[in-house]
Amino acid sequence: MIDFVKTYLWVMILVLAVLGTLVIVLASNSGSALTTSPVPIEVAEDELSQEAVLLEPEVDSQPSDLGKWIHVKIKSGDNLAKIFQRIHLLPTDLHKIVAIGSKVSSLKKILPKQELSFQVTDEGSLVAVRYKKDPLDTLLITRDGTGFTAEWETAVPDVTIVYKTGFVTKKQPSLYHAGKTAGLPVNIIMKLSYIFQWDISFAWDLRQGDSFALMYETLYVDGNKAGEGDIVAATFINAGKVHHAIQYTDLSGRTGYYTPDGHSLRKAFIRDPVHFSYVSSSFNLRRFHPVHKRVMSHRGIDYVAKKGTPIIASGDGKVITRKQNRASGKYVVIQHGEQYTTKYLHLSAFTNNARPNRSVKQGETIGYVGATGWATAPHLHYEFLVNGVHRNPKTVTLPKANPIPEKEMPRFHSAIAPLLAKLKAGDKTNLAVLSESVSAD
Ligand SMILES: [Zn+2]
Repeated sequence: MIDFVKTYLWVMILVLAVLGTLVIVLASNSGSALTTSPVPIEVAEDELSQEAVLLEPEVDSQPSDLGKWIHVKIKSGDNLAKIFQRIHLLPTDLHKIVAIGSKVSSLKKILPKQELSFQVTDEGSLVAVRYKKDPLDTLLITRDGTGFTAEWETAVPDVTIVYKTGFVTKKQPSLYHAGKTAGLPVNIIMKLSYIFQWDISFAWDLRQGDSFALMYETLYVDGNKAGEGDIVAATFINAGKVHHAIQYTDLSGRTGYYTPDGHSLRKAFIRDPVHFSYVSSSFNLRRFHPVHKRVMSHRGIDYVAKKGTPIIASGDGKVITRKQNRASGKYVVIQHGEQYTTKYLHLSAFTNNARPNRSVKQGETIGYVGATGWATAPHLHYEFLVNGVHRNPKTVTLPKANPIPEKEMPRFHSAIAPLLAKLKAGDKTNLAVLSESVSAD
């Protein structure tokens, strides 16, 4: 579960990095717009009234006689300094707020969808700032003597369980397409892929006729949708094989996904060292290996993806080689315990983690897709060896993780029973075509 979280974190870091880049691009665009067409420093009064809407004071926050609340519309490329200038607040107050430190660091990344309000006295002095980062998290900054203090408030959401089913078809061949058609939010599609990443290669194994059913949490605050929580149970039928996953928190407080008979879905290796969402679906091996001149007895799998796509360690292990040669280009070899070795070829770059003799965790980024060595287009060539013999990483039987201890099984069964019942009932009505294989389970 920790590695699952880690993998998820890495993806979130990546998403944030992309967003960050976008923000930088937007910021630099608006910056260049400023230099070519300078704007007056003073904001006209009528412009101010258009942008800033006076709000009624919040009943549950500051007494109304402290000042009026001004709601600011955040524009793309905006930052606090610009907003302070726009509504005539003192730069010294901005400095005092920034000086609070990490607690207010989110204010550096304000986005147009978020809500930002300022409480200002009749004399124009700033009393408080309210920043609703997302439907769950609100930052309240209040004047405290000569400076300001900050406090985060987290709303407790109402949780509703949503049931959805999806199908892999010719028109929607990837998990992404099938999930979107089923009405799943992207973050839930990602979570679904992480739950089954040890059992199903979403880059390779999906086929027409595959289907899935899942139950996930939808969060509401004051009746408004505030995003999605966890997937609590899921079924994935891949090539006729039924995979169940039920979320369970064990006696020591660790939450993970289990099969109905109490086996953790976590395994020593995830199937794809490149996340399926990056992998090109229209892939023809011969197009990318013309240098080999003949149809090779190919000892690995090629994942075609853009240069720079992160490559993750498929299992916990130790980096034993990080080198470059004429055929393999930049490559990394990881040893996993006594029996297993994985190799990653044609990288454009290594990460710092991938240093010889260093331990790496499953899901940790070790390098980036490239076309170094004998490769005419960016791809990852991935090899999986068991006791020195090449095996197909998509199909090799992997050791199972430790099951729930026998004495905890009654607790496990009673905890998952309602979820499993709902999931299977849903499977039968919604996955009618495949109900036979589900009920036979
Ligand atoms: Zn290859």
